[in-house]
Amino acid sequence: MSTTEKFGRYGLSLEVKFCKKCTINNQRPSSTVEFRNKPGETKNAIVFDENGVCSACRFAEKKKRINWQDRELQLHELCNRFRRNDGRYDVICPGSGGKDSVMAAHILKFKYNMNPILITWPPALYTEIGRKNFEAWLEPGFANYTYNQNRKVHRTLTRLAFENLGHPFQPFILGQKNLAPKLSVLLDIPLVVYGENEAEYGNSIADNDKPTRDSKFFTAEDQLENIFLGGISAQELLKKYNFSITDLEAYLSVNPHSIEKTGTEVHYLGYYIKWHPQETYYYSVENSNFMPSDMRSEGSYSKYSSLDDKIDWLHYYTVYIKFGNGRCTYDTSQEVRNGDITRDEGISLIKRFDGELPKVYLDSCLEYMDITEQRFFDVIEEFRTPHLWKQQHGQWVLKKPIWEE
Ligand SMILES: [Zn+2]
Repeated sequence: MSTTEKFGRYGLSLEVKFCKKCTINNQRPSSTVEFRNKPGETKNAIVFDENGVCSACRFAEKKKRINWQDRELQLHELCNRFRRNDGRYDVICPGSGGKDSVMAAHILKFKYNMNPILITWPPALYTEIGRKNFEAWLEPGFANYTYNQNRKVHRTLTRLAFENLGHPFQPFILGQKNLAPKLSVLLDIPLVVYGENEAEYGNSIADNDKPTRDSKFFTAEDQLENIFLGGISAQELLKKYNFSITDLEAYLSVNPHSIEKTGTEVHYLGYYIKWHPQETYYYSVENSNFMPSDMRSEGSYSKYSSLDDKIDWLHYYTVYIKFGNGRCTYDTSQEVRNGDITRDEGISLIKRFDGELPKVYLDSCLEYMDITEQRFFDVIEEFRTPHLWKQQHGQWVLKKPIWEE
């Protein structure tokens, strides 16, 4: 990184650069600046090397040289270490029935002969296809615990996170990350296995290189004024919204002492098995009743990723406003890395679809957050990053889109 590099809003570099191999740019916060002091939130700081290639592409190259047979042996060993022969559950598979969680649970049960219990932190607003896929996930013979959030609290935090951080998905992400370790303690099942990894939820690329979740994730946050949810300190939330600490607990980290006592380990199958989104999709269709959407996702061209929560579309849209990367940029960068499409194909898809306003579910999201359409657009404008956007014929356009690089 050059010493003359200047930074703007959200700690983003003022100079927009695109990876030479994929379609991602360098506009990612390099610290937790966007979230101030939020439990569990670190952003995926994409680093570009001296050849202008992003760290995710370099990791994808490294993946090609991994000895996957050896990794599968390691997975066998892991399962053997936690396997129970008395009929009790021996592994927790978190998810909501997307293709990754379908494949993870199925492989552990039928290939590795584990006895998984599925757990779900459900979307605030299930899509119809999301609900069907959740049921399909259970169909091959699984039981599931679902934690139903306090609707009032979840709704308020979602609105606050949207208004204060431009990040309506924050409460979902926090709960999703924290539920599995907590249930591991409650149910006394020390092994938790996620699908690929949590990169889509902002883990750093370096974390893809090891099988377990970083231990610093399990840090006790005992000082209420240091905990922020929806951009507001827990102390203030208790006072202003009349919440109790139990209302907020679902969003906070598990107590590290109880984790230690249970011996909880959180692993990612993506470390042990070569994970390829398209193949995961085919696997899920073959081995369960998993269904893709019958229409392409607004903002992209894909039909089988991140389908279950109506707020996900809004999430990608806010990311586009803040960082200039929308849902299509994320989809194409991944597919270019996996060799499914070329970089040029990716660029034309981005030109066509990236940053599309998510109209289909917008009304449901506004109704859920209890805000008007006018308020919605006002908030969106508050988060627009000045060095990325300009006005042209009365419209906002990117100053440096990838097709003009
Ligand atoms: Zn790249």
